[in-house]
Amino acid sequence: MNTGAEFGIVLGLRFFVCDACETVYADVEKPPLCSNCDVDSIQEIKAEMQAASYFSCR
Ligand SMILES: [Zn+2]
Repeated sequence: MNTGAEFGIVLGLRFFVCDACETVYADVEKPPLCSNCDVDSIQEIKAEMQAASYFSCR
């Protein structure tokens, strides 16, 4: 069974999380602003295992 994270890694996507609201983004580059709360507090999730844990919890 594929998780969302595994699927994204196959496509070459990177993962980002908003520090303010914990929204997780999968994109090829860092979103400039969080589309959920409009703040510039998005951090890249660099560890693949950490990205996987975000998805498996949801
Ligand atoms: Zn946010």
